[in-house]
Amino acid sequence: MAFFEEIGKHITQAGQGVAQQTKNLTDTARLSAAVSEKEKQIQKLYTQIGQAYYERWDGETDVPESEKMEQIRTLQAEIDQCKKDMNQIKGVRECPNCHAEVKEGNRFCNYCGAKL
Ligand SMILES: [Zn+2]
Repeated sequence: MAFFEEIGKHITQAGQGVAQQTKNLTDTARLSAAVSEKEKQIQKLYTQIGQAYYERWDGETDVPESEKMEQIRTLQAEIDQCKKDMNQIKGVRECPNCHAEVKEGNRFCNYCGAKL
């Protein structure tokens, strides 16, 4: 009889072990998701800090990270040129007032009515 009680005890312990492992996995997954979410929030804040710093920058080269800010300025100019090229291919231009896409040759913006 003691033999069967021993086996029963082992099975119960094994079951508790599986339950504990499942709980540990769930807790770990929850904590891992929390870490990811908080890291994302930090990245967003870093971006906001960087953007605020960049927007205050007026082209001086003797400030920290001025090389990276030069890179941003160059990349932004390249993006603007790509957009202009795309607009030319599509036969549209950007409204200077509302930034909507307006057909090339229009005298007024279809969206805000601004004179082009
Ligand atoms: Zn407009």
